[in-house]
Amino acid sequence: MAGEAQPDCLFCKIVAGEIPATVVRETDTTVAFRDINPQAPTHVLVIPRVHYANAAELAAGDPAAVVDVLREAGEVAAKEKVVDSGYRIVFNTGPGAGQTVFHAHAHVLGGRDLQRLV
Ligand code: C5P
Repeated sequence: MAGEAQPDCLFCKIVAGEIPATVVRETDTTVAFRDINPQAPTHVLVIPRVHYANAAELAAGDPAAVVDVLREAGEVAAKEKVVDSGYRIVFNTGPGAGQTVFHAHAHVLGGRDLQRLV
């Protein structure tokens, strides 16, 4: 069923505590943990506990969870002290955009100059 944990999903396993992660913050609906291959001094992934393949599917299936992820991205940025210098929230969507884990997640990147993308 939509939103249910998937047995082969890496991030569902992190949510379940079956795979270790360096957790930065947790809420009832989200988990935020450090990316294992950081692209910036602050590189934290914020994931919903529910399983949807990407951010757009999450928005369609559980809109409140999108708000939770974005609010939590802001909390992570504050905790990491990158609000004043600026940070980027990225949702890679689809393999052509570099998505490799098909459980919706926001990258929170900060702590260095971030080249303008758009
Ligand atoms: O947007 P994308 O799907 O490429 O992002 C997945 C991210 O998950 C990668 O940046 C990768 O380094 C990270 N990752 C992680 N811990 C794992 C597996 C992947 O932080 N165990």
